[in-house]
Amino acid sequence: MLSLPFDPLIRAREVEELVMEGLARKYYRFRPARYYGGIATADLVGCPFLCAYCWNYARNLHPELSRDRYYSPDEVAKRLLAIMKRKRFNKVRLSGAEPILGEQSFEHLYHVLEGVYKANPICDFILETNGLLIGCEERFVQELSQFEGLHIRVSLKGFDEESFEAISGSNGKYFDLPIKGLKDLIGNGINAWPAIMYETFGPEGIGKINERLKKHEIRPEELEIEYLEPYPFVLENLNKSSISIYM
Ligand code: SF4
Repeated sequence: MLSLPFDPLIRAREVEELVMEGLARKYYRFRPARYYGGIATADLVGCPFLCAYCWNYARNLHPELSRDRYYSPDEVAKRLLAIMKRKRFNKVRLSGAEPILGEQSFEHLYHVLEGVYKANPICDFILETNGLLIGCEERFVQELSQFEGLHIRVSLKGFDEESFEAISGSNGKYFDLPIKGLKDLIGNGINAWPAIMYETFGPEGIGKINERLKKHEIRPEELEIEYLEPYPFVLENLNKSSISIYM
């Protein structure tokens, strides 16, 4: 039983052990998706956070129970490239969980990027991350900066320590790490931007996160606002949590 709030860095290590086998990682789906005007998508398993509104909540709570299989970086790249070719997309992304849990999963990601760009050097690769591990390890940022055409969307899980703890389940003392990660990405010339979920921030939370971003010299105009997918289990989880919801 996971007790809240937890330490997300410890949880990242534990989850990485459960979803990695050598350089192969657990994925549960490969699909074409309508987002970004059409994008080949690989859905991962495993995240250090446990957001009440996560649409992959059950898998991320118990990654060890999922029967999904492990895919090598080469297999992942090939599947994504095949979807792009079939659907005539030029965009690709990883979604559903957190791509970077530590060294091993970063290595996996790096090889997926290499495989995709080797076959299609002009595609757009959109990396969706919560930014936690990126904020811990500057080497990750430097290695990611080698890939032109890589775009990184950092999904922020709170506008202060308290809201971060309520939304992500993680100890509030880690609130600043994803913002630091975002700042490092931008500082290294990577096209990276913050994203938030409107229903968990509301106008006041958006004002507060903009103030925090400004302090880190991140322009508020960059903030992407997404809206909740109101799946019944998501609404049920949110109702059980202490998060204030703005609908
Ligand atoms: S960070 Fe994303 S993948 Fe992880 S629990 Fe939160 S919503 Fe789910």
